[in-house]
Amino acid sequence: MPLPLPYPHLFLPDVTHITPERLRALGVSGLLLDIDGTLMQTRDAMPRQAVLDWMAHLRQEGFILYILSNNKHHHRVKAFAEAVGLPWQHLAKKPGLSGFREAARKLGLSPETLAMVGDQTYTDMLGARRFGCKGILVESTDTYLWYFWPRRLLELPFRKERP
Ligand SMILES: [Mg+2]
Repeated sequence: MPLPLPYPHLFLPDVTHITPERLRALGVSGLLLDIDGTLMQTRDAMPRQAVLDWMAHLRQEGFILYILSNNKHHHRVKAFAEAVGLPWQHLAKKPGLSGFREAARKLGLSPETLAMVGDQTYTDMLGARRFGCKGILVESTDTYLWYFWPRRLLELPFRKERP
């Protein structure tokens, strides 16, 4: 089967722009959250307060949150996920499907009701399109890392929203 094109369904400046209204319009009730470059910079241990408030607000509104990270550092992912009280997976191997499937099974939600929120086109958005969930792309918080710039060029054709 050919790979789907990794366009996001939504492309927003940062996660705090993801509102309950936007999620309901997409038919989404659960979010799979990337950590690095999405919720916080890769060099940070915790997100800024506005992001923590955003997560709390979505949970109050009844949305299910789940940490789906490709980060290989077990302690980093675990420490953050436990601090905010969310289920989590590290080494998720996005755009592979095993992590998405495990998340959906654990949450008891179907792909159509889930959205992957991430900063990477070829892991987060490609994985979302392959899995059949929604993809929400945010501008990476890691733009200070010069070695990500070549990848950004490769991402340019797919940095626009498609249904
Ligand atoms: Mg990331």
